[in-house]
Amino acid sequence: MAGIEKTDWIWKNGELVQWDDAQIHITSHVVHYGSSIFEGIRYYDTPDGPAVFRLTDHMKRFIGSAKIYRMDLGFDLQTLVDACLQVVSRNSISEGYLRPVALRGVGPMGLNPTGCPVETYILTWPWGQYLGADALARGVDACVSSWHRPAPNTHPSLSKAGGNYLNSQLMKMEAVANGYTEAIALGVDGTVSEGSGQNLFLVQDGTLVTPPLDGTMLHGITRDTVIKLAEGLGISVRQEILPREALYLADELFFVGTAAEVSPITSVDRIPVGDGSVGPVSRALQDEYLGIARGTKPDVHGWLEHAPQLVRTDS
Ligand code: PMP
Repeated sequence: MAGIEKTDWIWKNGELVQWDDAQIHITSHVVHYGSSIFEGIRYYDTPDGPAVFRLTDHMKRFIGSAKIYRMDLGFDLQTLVDACLQVVSRNSISEGYLRPVALRGVGPMGLNPTGCPVETYILTWPWGQYLGADALARGVDACVSSWHRPAPNTHPSLSKAGGNYLNSQLMKMEAVANGYTEAIALGVDGTVSEGSGQNLFLVQDGTLVTPPLDGTMLHGITRDTVIKLAEGLGISVRQEILPREALYLADELFFVGTAAEVSPITSVDRIPVGDGSVGPVSRALQDEYLGIARGTKPDVHGWLEHAPQLVRTDS
């Protein structure tokens, strides 16, 4: 299976290093105990060059994820934001994905990580549609996972920590093994939580409904974006506890996330959502989201952060 597409430069603790030189040692704490936090951010090709979508908000969440785990990054918000923009500029990709990651490196073995230095990296690569080439246009088949989300006050869900994604991997592998594209998890009380790497909305009688932040899901930036876009389009939004069967009764259903963007769900557990095709509210929100991200619709919220374009001196 092909790996990710290699780019030239990775930001490591304040400087750019070549892709192949961004290495960690096998004794790094993160390898044994999952001690990392990360972000996933997209940038899009706009008429004014590459623009990173809600970069500052993502890096605020990154700093928050580190704080929960008592990781001192040693870099402030502006430095990290500038570093991301530098990675975009220097790798000269017009559209792609940014992955800031901070991890506990080499130090004493054992569960107390505080003696292991924190290393911060920012890398990028081109990444197409996360849920498959047709996901945005035609939607995906999802299932309800037999794995639940961790309970509040176990693995803190507001931290985007590497270790949280062991639960997501179980969900995703089970879904794929059973012929689905993606899984939807229930929380501890059996009500709907989120996808393996996405939040979720349903449409019922023209209203958008999403589960409230209940300590079992990530506070998604795309979730927040879609709530604001819906308000702008005059679509009412409710945050409401959803029993599993609400998924089967919804008129429309879709995943939202940086990687997945706005991906319609056309069936759950082989039961068609609505009439089984992509619905008008999902389509309108998807168009609005990608229109703003790609600079073809006005960015009224100030969500685009442009990477400085390098002046080429070698041609
Ligand atoms: N939930 C989980 C578990 C995720 O991994 C993600 C992706 N970061 C999301 C929700 C969506 O978050 P965002 O919109 O900020 O990418």
